[in-house]
Amino acid sequence: MEETDAQAVALGYRRDTTKVDAAKYPKHAATQSCGNCQLYQGKPKDAFGGCPLFAGKQVAVGGWCSAWVKKA
Ligand code: SF4
Repeated sequence: MEETDAQAVALGYRRDTTKVDAAKYPKHAATQSCGNCQLYQGKPKDAFGGCPLFAGKQVAVGGWCSAWVKKA
């Protein structure tokens, strides 16, 4: 998915979690990524996977957005 996608911009999605704007998202940590997010639908070894917040698109396993929730 493109970072310029309207939904991506709204949620602060970045393909690389280390590139997240720390000033805008102070709760973000580089250890947080789609791969360890509760909502990630890909397999751990996949580079990309589905996310219910971005229907029909694939997010990067190393990406991040402001809806990140620690995987239980
Ligand atoms: Fe990645 Fe989770 Fe945001 Fe979906 S909700 S884009 S899996 S951080």
